[in-house]
Amino acid sequence: MGLSGEQYDVIVVGAGIMGSSAAYQLAKRGQKVLLLEQFDFLHHRGSSHGESRTMRATYPDAYYCDMAVEASRLWEEAESEMGYRVYFKCPNFDMGPAENKSLRTIISSCRERSIDCRVLDHRQVDEEFNGRIRIPEDWIGVCTELGGVIKPTKAVSMFQTLAFRNGAVLRDRTEVKEIVRDDVNGGILVVGDGEGDKFWGRKCVVTVGAWTEKLVKRVSGIELPVQPVETTVCYWRVKEGQEGKLAIGGGFPTFASYGRPGVYGTPALEFPGLIKVTLTGGYPCDPDKRPWGPGKPTEEMEEWIESTFGGLVETGGGPVSKQSCMCCMTPDKDYVIDFLGGEFGKDVVVGGGFSGHGFKMGPAVGKMLADLAVEGEVKGAVEEETLRYFRIQRFVENPLGNPKDFL
Ligand SMILES: Cc1cc2nc3c(=O)[nH]c(=O)nc-3n(C[C@H](O)[C@H](O)[C@H](O)COP(=O)(O)OP(=O)(O)OC[C@H]3O[C@@H](n4cnc5c(N)ncnc54)[C@H](O)[C@@H]3O)c2cc1C
Repeated sequence: MGLSGEQYDVIVVGAGIMGSSAAYQLAKRGQKVLLLEQFDFLHHRGSSHGESRTMRATYPDAYYCDMAVEASRLWEEAESEMGYRVYFKCPNFDMGPAENKSLRTIISSCRERSIDCRVLDHRQVDEEFNGRIRIPEDWIGVCTELGGVIKPTKAVSMFQTLAFRNGAVLRDRTEVKEIVRDDVNGGILVVGDGEGDKFWGRKCVVTVGAWTEKLVKRVSGIELPVQPVETTVCYWRVKEGQEGKLAIGGGFPTFASYGRPGVYGTPALEFPGLIKVTLTGGYPCDPDKRPWGPGKPTEEMEEWIESTFGGLVETGGGPVSKQSCMCCMTPDKDYVIDFLGGEFGKDVVVGGGFSGHGFKMGPAVGKMLADLAVEGEVKGAVEEETLRYFRIQRFVENPLGNPKDFL
């Protein structure tokens, strides 16, 4: 089988948010880029589709605070280049038991990174949100201004369009089966599943989401501990006449609860009158043999919604709409952003294991992947030092990855 068509500076495999933003970053720098996707572009079978993702800078690990600030800036930069919005700002609100270690560490990380955060007791929370959010007496709330809702499918489409406008070649319905060294010419050969699908690139970026473990093992033998998990997003109906109170734009925040059950959600935006409230976590799955639901039982969520949103949401009949999605979890919930190494050295870069919190960082991760592919190191606002936490080597030193006392 001969080489098909042109040769590229960088071939990006996988067109979710990470691959699409990396392709844009690379094309903008004048690199000749090919973006390959196994399914149709903007499909719903991975992690980057749907109607909303939370933007927040509240992380116990301060390096994510920096990345979120940088990502927020890059979201706006891409929006202005594109001419439409995918990122709708609103406050962010985290809540949980006052002694909760994650929440405590979030407060210190925000302060360390000069991210404005206000810590409120239960009475102050009541005042802050005019009774729309209530927390138990022994809980605290953390308010930050850097928050918002990102529209995922629209955002992926934006980066693909920007990549295309900057000269990238986009090709879907091409499953990459092999990535091998070209021992004759140097560089990398990327082999697809169709007749003649053999592409040459000086470098390759692998951003295949829930398929990371499978593809990386096939091409390099490295066993990355990244576990695909199927999760279900739930939408609940706001009571008639109360819709405006939980809608974006009226001070209602994106939110996360660090108590039990673990819950997160976004204000009403994508479906007027419906609010997204969802349990964290899901069920381990094989991305090629998904159960497609039914998701976790919703009784716990109903109780949580009743006690937190003071009777503003209808819970009796359960959620009115559900959507299925996959996350890709590492044991320490830190990303994998690194060179593949081995025979590939620095010519193949991997971005995966975004552990259910990657979307907001999409533009910053895309930039880091492009930096690694082109420059061999990360440059700019997110420091090279941050990469230490995302190295593959950490799992060799400790199968559980980076040590954390708040997980
Ligand atoms: C329900 C849910 C809620 C979430 N909420 C948030 C949130 O509020 N905030 C936040 O920041 N993050 C959130 N996340 C996480 C975020 O969505 C993910 O971290 C992010 O979308 C991961 O993107 P990705 O590009 O790595 O993976 P994907 O979007 O899965 O993209 C990988 C792509 O690679 C393709 N591919 C795979 N194998 C091959 C191959 N061999 N050849 C060619 N193509 C291939 C796949 O088809 C896919 O299109 C959430 C995730 C889920 C599921």
